[in-house]
Amino acid sequence: METHLADWIAHTSQGEEAKAILQRCVHCGFCTATCPTYQVLGDELDGPRGRIYLMKQMLEGGETGPETMLHLDRCLTCRSCETTCPSGVEYGRLLDIGRHAAETRIRRPVGQRLMRGLLREGLTSPLLGPAVKLGRALRPLLPGAIQSKIPLTRPRGELPTRAHARRVLLLAGCVQPAMLPGIDGATQRVLDRLGISSMVAAGSGCCGAIRQHLADPDGAKEQARMNVDAWWPMVASGEVEAIVVNASGCTVMVKDYAHLLQDDVEYAPRAQRITELVKDPIELLEPLTDEIRKKVLAKSNTRVAYHAPCTQQHGLRIRGTVERLLVALGAQSLAVSDSHLCCGSAGTYSLLQPALSTTLRDRKLEALQAESPSVILSANVGCIAHLAGAAKVPVMHWLEWLDERLALEAEDA
Ligand code: SF4
Ligand code: SF4
Repeated sequence: METHLADWIAHTSQGEEAKAILQRCVHCGFCTATCPTYQVLGDELDGPRGRIYLMKQMLEGGETGPETMLHLDRCLTCRSCETTCPSGVEYGRLLDIGRHAAETRIRRPVGQRLMRGLLREGLTSPLLGPAVKLGRALRPLLPGAIQSKIPLTRPRGELPTRAHARRVLLLAGCVQPAMLPGIDGATQRVLDRLGISSMVAAGSGCCGAIRQHLADPDGAKEQARMNVDAWWPMVASGEVEAIVVNASGCTVMVKDYAHLLQDDVEYAPRAQRITELVKDPIELLEPLTDEIRKKVLAKSNTRVAYHAPCTQQHGLRIRGTVERLLVALGAQSLAVSDSHLCCGSAGTYSLLQPALSTTLRDRKLEALQAESPSVILSANVGCIAHLAGAAKVPVMHWLEWLDERLALEAEDA
C-alpha cells in the first residue's frame, strides 16, 4: 500500500517501521477470515484489514476519532492474522505503534482512563497478591461474574533444594504468582527431576506486557530494563543456560526485548543477549522427551484437550510441540476445532471487553469440551484462569499436569 506519513511521525523510528509494514500489505483480506473479532462482529473494521486501514489513515494525518479507538480496542492482539498473512505483514508491531499514536491523539472518556490506569498499576503492584487472597476469602459472597475471575488456587507446594550442573533463570512475573502460584512450583519441580536447577533473580518482576498492551511503552521499557539488570550478572558469568518463561504471554514479551530496547544505546546489546536466551518451557523439555517418558507412568491414558495460547502459536510460532510431548507420555490428545482462534482472555481484554471476551470463551470451551476431555491443559496463566471460570473439567498448565505425573512415578518407585 502506498503510504505517506504525516509530519508528526514521518521521520521517527516508529514511523519508519510502520511505513515498512503498511507497504507490505496488499489488501488481499486473507487475514479477515481467521480474525476472531471479525467472526463475532462481522464488521470489516473489526478485522485486521479494516484496522490496518484505520491506522494508516491516522498515521497519514487523516480523520481520527473515538471510532478508531473503539476498533483498535476490540483487537485481541492475538496475531492470528499474522500467521495467515501471505505477505508477512507484522500486524502486532503495527498495532503497538498505532495504539500508542491513538492514545496520544485521541482523548478517552474519563471512566476508561481511570479503569486502564487502575489495571496498569494494580496488576503490576506487589499488593496484587494480598488483594487476590482477600478476594479468594470473600469468593462465596461475591457475584458469579466476579467469582469466575478469581480461580481456585493450587498451592505452590514444596520447592526443590538440590543443586544441579544445569541452571536456568525463571521470570518472577506479576499476575501468575498471585493468581496461580502452583504453576511456578510445578515448573521448578519438573525441572529439578530432570536435573535442572531454576531460580528467580532478586529484582526481576513483571515482563512489561501489561503496560505495553495498555499503551504505556515507556513503562514497559522501564520494566524490561529492571529485568535485564536483575538477570545480567548470572547471564554474563555464564551461570545460566536459559531464561525460562512459563507464561507464553510473557515469553513473547521477553523475546521481544531486543526490539523493544533497540534504540537504547546502554541496554540494546544486553537486551539482544536476553532475547537469545529466552525459552518457552517446551523448548527446553522437548529434547528430553525420552528421559521424561522413562520417569512418567505411560499407562495414564488421560483424555487431554490442549488449548494452545495465541502467544504460543502465533507469537512464538510453536505449534503441536506440547501436544506431541503429551502423547509421547501416554495421554490422548483430543482434536480441537478452530484451535487457531483466541479464547478471549488476551491479557486485560477480558476486563475491558467483557461481552466479546465471554462470547469467545464460550465458543472456545465448546470446542475444547466437544470430545469430553478429563482435563484441559494450556500454557498461559491468563487463558487458564479465563477458561477455568466456566469449564466443566479442571483447567491447568501442562507443567502442572506433568508435575503430577512425575510425582506419581516417584511415589511408585
Ligand atoms: S495483512 Fe496480509 S492478509 Fe491481511 S490484507 Fe494485508 S496482505 Fe492481506
Ligand atoms: S490480532 Fe487477532 S483480533 Fe486483532 S486483527 Fe489480528 S486476528 Fe483480529
